[in-house]
Amino acid sequence: MAAILPPAMLGILGGGQLGRMFAVAAKTMGYRVTVLDPDEAAPAAEFADRHLCAPFNDPAALEDLAKSCAAVTTEFENVNADAMRLLAKTTRVSPSGDCVAIAQDRIVEKAWIAKAGLPTAPYLAIQSVEDIQVELAPYLPGILKTARLGYDGKGQVRVSTAAEARAAYANLGGQPCVLEKMLDLQLEVSAIVTRVSATQSAVFPVAENLHADGILDESIVPARIKPALAAEAQAMALRLAEALDYVGVLAVEFFVLADDSLVVNEIAPRPHNSGHYTLTACLTDQFQQQVRAMCGLLPGRTDLLSPVVMVNLLGDVWKDNGAQPNWDVLAEAPNAQLHLYGKKSARPGRKMGHFNVMAATADEALDQARALKDTL
Ligand code: ADP
Ligand code: MG
Repeated sequence: MAAILPPAMLGILGGGQLGRMFAVAAKTMGYRVTVLDPDEAAPAAEFADRHLCAPFNDPAALEDLAKSCAAVTTEFENVNADAMRLLAKTTRVSPSGDCVAIAQDRIVEKAWIAKAGLPTAPYLAIQSVEDIQVELAPYLPGILKTARLGYDGKGQVRVSTAAEARAAYANLGGQPCVLEKMLDLQLEVSAIVTRVSATQSAVFPVAENLHADGILDESIVPARIKPALAAEAQAMALRLAEALDYVGVLAVEFFVLADDSLVVNEIAPRPHNSGHYTLTACLTDQFQQQVRAMCGLLPGRTDLLSPVVMVNLLGDVWKDNGAQPNWDVLAEAPNAQLHLYGKKSARPGRKMGHFNVMAATADEALDQARALKDTL
């Protein structure tokens, strides 16, 4: 397929921070951008040529997007996969509606991970109440996760007994879930793939991810694991993208177990919070890759230019009266880069921005990043 070149119009479903960073990348590369998002104050709107302020399934807005954009992508997996399939009838859509549908549902997602020959945590798919009336011991202690709409640890309940698991399932309203065995994690890592075709793909360096209260807190790159294990995670992520015949940016989260083995946790059909380090530390960043993939351009090189640590800035860092944190030290640190998403109100847990710190080693970057965070 012919490459889509500037100044073509590119469309994105969703105008949050991922859409915003996509819009910045696309505009910088000379494309024009249309964002579809129902929120007047969508962070991406500031950088978009057009903001279609309508629900994600609004037929007129989708028709407008399909007609006016040379290609359309998404910033989140919870869009209607059917909307993506509808758009695909008249314009180029990546990732495909089918791939988005897979990433939307933990049951389908895990089946695909297994189909690609990759390991998952032992899990039980629970479509209805009969499915949980079986021997649950292989999955306990475990985590009950809703099959759909979970993020940042939401929609998850930790359970130790079969009775607790069944009660938690009922409490979640009997919606489809997976019961996953709680694994003893050494650490968590992610690998982000950009795939354009079977012969054209690239993978970013592996990030080590530290979470706080179920939300990503810090990403450390290079991950502090053996190089061979990092290479294995990259190979697994590429293999999954291949199995899905994926086009676009695909993030793959892994658990590293105590015995140094890897388990695939989940995937995201888009740039990922754990890839924000690429904005300052890689030759090409993950949003440029998203633009390149949707336009059918070759993926850019993913070389790491410097060890780096990314720190998420949640609304909790803002003052109780809504006043800004003290940016004075961070803003002037020569090896740090602050990114704010332009969100007006800071609620606890809300992703407001992040900063990247570059240093000679990942450990040094981590020490400096934590010291900088303490000044806010
Ligand atoms: P989310 O969609 O909210 O990111 P995840 O499935 O990635 O959901 O779970 C969030 C976090 O919970 C993970 O990053 C990990 O720290 C922890 N977690 C999830 N599943 C397991 C498991 N099977 N064993 C141990 N920890 C887990
Ligand atoms: Mg996750």
